[in-house]
Amino acid sequence: MRTPFVVGNWKLNKTIAEALALVTELKNQLGAVKGVAVGVAPVATAIHSVAKRLEGTQIATCAQNCHWEASGAWTGELSPQLLADAGASWVIVGHSERRQFFGDTSESVGKKAAAVIQAGLGAIVCVGESLAERDGGRTLGVVDEQLAGGLAGIDLAGAARLVIAYEPVWAIGTGRTATPAQAQEVHAHIRTRLAERYGQACADGIRIQYGGSVKPSNAEALMSERDIDGALVGGASLEAADFIAIVKAARPA
Ligand code: PEP
Repeated sequence: MRTPFVVGNWKLNKTIAEALALVTELKNQLGAVKGVAVGVAPVATAIHSVAKRLEGTQIATCAQNCHWEASGAWTGELSPQLLADAGASWVIVGHSERRQFFGDTSESVGKKAAAVIQAGLGAIVCVGESLAERDGGRTLGVVDEQLAGGLAGIDLAGAARLVIAYEPVWAIGTGRTATPAQAQEVHAHIRTRLAERYGQACADGIRIQYGGSVKPSNAEALMSERDIDGALVGGASLEAADFIAIVKAARPA
């Protein structure tokens, strides 16, 4: 019912030439893959070149962050409108590295997500708890708070272009993955919250990606869970072979 969506978050990696080499390989090898939506999120300086190279393919170009204003005196920032102008069709907002190192809060993530939707793009809103929060039994409360803030400015119409990424912070870049059961529990909870906000029919259509050390070896088990609809992939998306294997693992059975 939901087409899985697998996105590679390249973080602060790859020159324009390196980015083009990787997407050219993805384009050649993923052209025939059916039943999975695919995206890549290069550094902002490579978005335009990557989007041009991917023209005419099903692979979407995504941005890793944005500002909430369209233009103005915001030195160093990029608006959803400018990212769209460069060729992006999705923006990741609220990644845990933004929350941890750059001061993103649930409130600012909500403003960014609303601005992305307002600009006509798709928003991938990231949520997830730290290890201390999980150990303290606060996982669902943290996710609730991040969802409430992150979705505050997105109405029912906007939710058609919404994807949630559940990324437990303790699993990002650590090699530690949530078990499929641990992830499924939180994904099901997120869908319940989405149903309360947007109604069951809408919630049933919203993709909820899992992120946190997804690799070819664990992708299929994670994505065979009922409420896991694809993946946000960091490290393993930097190598074509690994990312392609993860995309293939996301194909519906
Ligand atoms: C991420 O950055 O969104 C991520 C999940 O990273 P990794 O796959 O490297 O854990």
